[in-house]
Amino acid sequence: VGILQSPISSFSRLLNQFQQSLVSYGRIMDIMALKPQILDAPSAVDFPKIKTGVVFDHVTFTYDVDDPETSHKPAIRDVSFDIPFGEQTALVGHSGAGKSTITELLDRLYDIDNGQITFDGVSIKDIKLRSLRQNIAIVSQDIFIIDGTIADNIKYGTPGATQDQLWEVAKLADIDAFIKGLPDQMKTQVGERGIKLSGGQKQRIAIARALLKDAQIVVLDEATASLDNESEKTIQHALENLMEQRTSLVIAHRLSTIHNADQILVVDDGEIVERGNHTSLMAQDGYYKQLYEAQFE
Ligand code: ATP
Repeated sequence: VGILQSPISSFSRLLNQFQQSLVSYGRIMDIMALKPQILDAPSAVDFPKIKTGVVFDHVTFTYDVDDPETSHKPAIRDVSFDIPFGEQTALVGHSGAGKSTITELLDRLYDIDNGQITFDGVSIKDIKLRSLRQNIAIVSQDIFIIDGTIADNIKYGTPGATQDQLWEVAKLADIDAFIKGLPDQMKTQVGERGIKLSGGQKQRIAIARALLKDAQIVVLDEATASLDNESEKTIQHALENLMEQRTSLVIAHRLSTIHNADQILVVDDGEIVERGNHTSLMAQDGYYKQLYEAQFE
């Protein structure tokens, strides 16, 4: 019996492994079937020179979540709006409403389930990814600083920039005086092995980086971290320089910064519940007014 047992148990172990690998294979196929990879269509074109703007037309998107406990509710549901050329559009709403998801869809980090996103009438899926991302500059809350010089950090994404261009964008980002005061100016090491930058300085480096990219569309995720009054004013000024003559989409956490936005979209639970400018939304006496008053009371 002993002689027989060993090959039988080896066989059953093998069978077990085979079944498990079938399960994993099935799982991989499930995942692959859920969301195909984001790739260029064979006929993909370069980013169009925007003249009219971006349109979200009945867009629905659900994140893939592995955890069966988590709901598969769409993060964005049947959302339609325009981001007109040359204007500032702001997104406001509570945490988890779907603001970041909208900006991520604009950069095509994910493909949508239903609806259309178009840039001057061209579907996002027909634009070469590289070209799309070259034309959208993002200033997010988590700014990454590479271990290198100030110049390396500003040039990140635009390696061919000249010294003159670096100083020009540094000036517009209100960081030139700070750089001039450093021992090695543009060549000063920052990051892990160099000087440590403050939150405000990092943000202005990110603004300089975005200015250098000279993208047609700017996405801003306004910092929630509290900055001192002085830094806040300087950053606001630098941001105005960045948004000037560009089409922008701003996630605003401080409603005071978007008084002059051309359009404000109020997002709640994956939907746009109100839209207008600051004055018209305050007059509506609805959700925006509540958010606004909650922030200033
Ligand atoms: P905040 O102001 O806190 O940044 P938000 O309005 O930007 O919030 P989103 O980050 O867009 O909200 O989130 C919208 C919904 O999608 C939330 O329910 C969130 O939990 C979910 N979500 C966001 N990112 C992911 C992800 N990578 N995977 C799964 N669900 C996600």
